[in-house]
Amino acid sequence: MNNDTIASLRAAYISGTTTPTAVIDNALATITEKDKDIHAFLAVYSDDARVQAVEATERFKIEGNAAPALLGIPVAVKNNILVKGKLATAASKMLENYIASYDATIITRLKDAGAIIVGATNMDEFAMGGSTENSAFGPTKNPLDITRVPGGSSGGSAAAVAMGAVPVAIGTDTGGSVRQPASYCGLVGFKPTYGAVSRYGLMAMGSSLDQAGPLSRTVADSELLHNLMAGIDIMDATTISPDTYPTVPIKDVYTFGVPRAFLGDGVDPDVLAVFETHVESLKAAGHTVVDIELPLFEQGLAAYYIVMPAEVSSNLARYDGIRYGLSVPGKDLLAVYEQSRAAGFGTEVKRRILLGTYVLSAGYFDAYYGKAEQARVAMRAELAEVFKSVDIILTPTAPTPAFTLGEQADPLSMYRQDIFTVPVNLTGAPALTFPMGTVDRTGVTLPVGVQYIGPLAGDERLFDIGKRIYDSRR
Ligand code: GLN
Repeated sequence: MNNDTIASLRAAYISGTTTPTAVIDNALATITEKDKDIHAFLAVYSDDARVQAVEATERFKIEGNAAPALLGIPVAVKNNILVKGKLATAASKMLENYIASYDATIITRLKDAGAIIVGATNMDEFAMGGSTENSAFGPTKNPLDITRVPGGSSGGSAAAVAMGAVPVAIGTDTGGSVRQPASYCGLVGFKPTYGAVSRYGLMAMGSSLDQAGPLSRTVADSELLHNLMAGIDIMDATTISPDTYPTVPIKDVYTFGVPRAFLGDGVDPDVLAVFETHVESLKAAGHTVVDIELPLFEQGLAAYYIVMPAEVSSNLARYDGIRYGLSVPGKDLLAVYEQSRAAGFGTEVKRRILLGTYVLSAGYFDAYYGKAEQARVAMRAELAEVFKSVDIILTPTAPTPAFTLGEQADPLSMYRQDIFTVPVNLTGAPALTFPMGTVDRTGVTLPVGVQYIGPLAGDERLFDIGKRIYDSRR
């Protein structure tokens, strides 16, 4: 199994034991061989990647160590992130033929660092879902067991890494869409502090929740990618400067808080057992682990499924059959709107637009949307209070390992998979996931992830502890 990392590839490029050309050829061959079954990719940019690989190979001969950080590194990108001149479909019929006219800021930054974008990855339509089954172009399978989902909505990005095609991929996380697929595919995934990374050129789902983040095999690779993508962007007024929040110090030993009451319902017993083993290993490494209470955090799912659809209904209003993508002719303008949206959007997207429109309607706004936003403010205060006494909050990333295709047909049971991830987006906090162990399902060994939640702007603290706990033991 391909176990390359950015660090290992770069070292090999510098020493000359391999070249970007060889690595890209290998990546493309892996995709050709495996993606028939996995369907991680919606598009593969073979020709561009080969040309860039030849250039990178030449540059390494001249620049060596001084070459930019990602020179010759293959990266896969979720298809709701704009890459100039390429189809940007968000896995929706609505945008099946839509070509991006500019690069997202994070893409510009990755390209400037020398990354080679090998292809666009599959996802739940407009990032709504937790299994990649909501793609208009067919689901992605989990490379560890193709009867199972890779998670979602960044399931294609997770599968692209897990199948060995690329060392790293980029996803977006509105309520867990980087972390949950990372957990299901045995990878590292990171959701930054809200505002750390520009959203310019990302197709908005929930604008107050969305952040782009890396999926990788090591914490160090996620850290590197995140630091290259992060920073103020004049094109996104919600990006934050380093002094927006108080500095979060790095320490030798940390105090971890476990919200015990939160771990009861709906979490598979063997996932909990693996989690307890992880807690013990933290103690053995000299850290302190204490129980904490986060009663509002536990209500996160209810607030998320009001705030998120409200923002979805407003963000997706732009797909009207006139300005972008699919247009179905009609007898008048209203008919064009109605028929284009009816034909372009899938069931889950329609469900959320309806929900969002409802909670924002006159008469319901105060009862639902207003209340959910109040809950959010209270959750932030609760979190700030807890972070006075602990450094990091610890939960499983998801309550189960990867489930089988079709297993979560009921939308509500699918939404419950997000129980530990969505409160993080509602509060803006950063969170890191990495594999904490495995569980068995029908004779298959499946990975499960642990989630480390940090205080606002605590991104570096999470990388620091993640490298010490995970990378050092791989
Ligand atoms: N699974 C969650 C949802 O369906 C998260 C989606 C996301 O983070 N994009 O809303």
